[in-house]
Amino acid sequence: MSTSASLAADVTAGDRRALARAITLVESTRPDHRLEAIELLDLLLPHTGRSQRIGISGTPGSGKSTLIEELGLHAIAQGERVAVLAIDPSSARSGGSILGDKTRMSDLARHPDAFIRPTPSSGTLGGVARRTLEAVLVCEAAGFGTVLVETVGVGQSEVAVADLVDLFLLVAAPAGGDELQGIKRGIMELADLIVVNKADGDLEAAAGRAAADLGHAVQLLRPKRRGWSVQVLTCSALTGRGVAELWDALRCAHQRLADDGLAELRARQGVAWMWSEVTDELLSRLRSDPEVRARVADLEAGVAGGTITASAAAAQLLAAFLGR
Ligand code: GDP
Repeated sequence: MSTSASLAADVTAGDRRALARAITLVESTRPDHRLEAIELLDLLLPHTGRSQRIGISGTPGSGKSTLIEELGLHAIAQGERVAVLAIDPSSARSGGSILGDKTRMSDLARHPDAFIRPTPSSGTLGGVARRTLEAVLVCEAAGFGTVLVETVGVGQSEVAVADLVDLFLLVAAPAGGDELQGIKRGIMELADLIVVNKADGDLEAAAGRAAADLGHAVQLLRPKRRGWSVQVLTCSALTGRGVAELWDALRCAHQRLADDGLAELRARQGVAWMWSEVTDELLSRLRSDPEVRARVADLEAGVAGGTITASAAAAQLLAAFLGR
């Protein structure tokens, strides 16, 4: 059996170490690994597609990881198997990752029906998102019925993740007074469901008001899906109140999507994914092409100095790349 074939067999048999190895393989940037990864994904394909893929985002401090742990443990108690893939694009810059913090989701991480994995933080956002989608497929093949994709960035990464999941949950929290911890409108537009966390103790009343305000705010947004209104819930990851209701709301929303629109959504995501692979690969070949490299500095200087137009320079670079 080839390496990919035996790895695929181990992944589908539910071997956790094989699952971790398979994800490392799909995340690798080495060209020989990429070929193996493509072979592996091809073998796993018949075992994929059956999970609910849920994106979860929210400003740092809103309680995402605490909530994911509670939600994950609740789902597991209902008989679910839960994988959590966390994307932290900021760690490439800061050098340290909050995901490196071992205390995050420690109960969930120890559970045999859970699998938690931070994604690599290097590379382009589109690239990271694509590899994450491949990691989702690997988790599905390993029998995880729920895959939560957490983003801990604030902005761009949410857009990339919204393009690879079925549903997007936004976690908000009252900041103290009545105001919410800053949520960007663009992120609100991605949400299928919003939950105001920390609805406990002193913050409970503020959380209720925040949920009402958010409920009004989302009504003013362009609906993300036709005939779909964004539900706004409250919960407390600390006390567990509202977590079961949140899980039910997510399941319900996913079922509704599965009945109408999920197949189309995933088909669209797959095609977009193919084109972004093509675009990235072409661009990387173009940038490393010797003819292009020989000319690029002069052309850039020409464009910057105003001696050649950007479009003429682009045409020359493309001609150099294509050999005509
Ligand atoms: P993240 O940065 O969004 O992942 O947030 P964390 O899960 O790390 O939580 C940030 C802080 O909020 C921690 O001190 C948590 O203990 C606290 N926290 C999380 N959930 C709740 C909650 O439901 N209620 C209250 N009062 N605090 C919470």
